[in-house]
Amino acid sequence: MHGFDDSVIEQEGWLRALDCDVLFSCVDRPWPRFALNVAAYAHLIPVVDGGVAVDVRAGNYQGLATAAAPFRLIGAEWRAHLVGPNRECMECLGQYDPGEVGMERAGLLDDPAYIASLPADHHLRRGENVFAFSMACAAAEVLELLRAVLGPSKIHDVGATLTHWTTATTERDVDGCRAGCPFPTQLQGRGDAAGVDVTGRHPAAVAARAAARPTQSMNAYGESDSKSSTH
Ligand SMILES: [Zn+2]
Repeated sequence: MHGFDDSVIEQEGWLRALDCDVLFSCVDRPWPRFALNVAAYAHLIPVVDGGVAVDVRAGNYQGLATAAAPFRLIGAEWRAHLVGPNRECMECLGQYDPGEVGMERAGLLDDPAYIASLPADHHLRRGENVFAFSMACAAAEVLELLRAVLGPSKIHDVGATLTHWTTATTERDVDGCRAGCPFPTQLQGRGDAAGVDVTGRHPAAVAARAAARPTQSMNAYGESDSKSSTH
């Protein structure tokens, strides 16, 4: 097992991603989701994506905000879907807003002043990572791949799933891409000839690498591999 600490939107990371047979996405940002959507259709690499949303509102259940109960928990949900040919793409599923891809490339989503200017409940200010829900989402992504590959009862595709924690219900979205979506049409199977530039400088990845501990790159036995050895 080898870990790489490149971002999928850096040239090195993008080329590593294109070497994979399947990609799991937990990027939670528009630019890398756009890149992975390109990988799924232009390069025909199945991408299993997902996400978690936790819904809290200000105040207690009587609507009063107190120091002891500044928020109330409304619910939580997680999504899982496999994207690629004959399935709805991440853009059509609403997993990213194409307008926000350019904003992220311009650095706005890492600009504290810009983020601070957004409404408190704006989706770009979210980023829930509640362990139990993230575990459920990760399991749903793995099961999505297993269903696609193994086809239990000859069922490979049930659409994109959205599971509500509060009510223990799961919705399925079986719509295809919207008419005119370029991913399953102009881009599909074009590879590098698709001519879509997805990579660039990613300051957050550079900073994360600089802050990473030297033990981050380990083999399956927990030993540092030669790449990261300090000896
Ligand atoms: Zn689409």
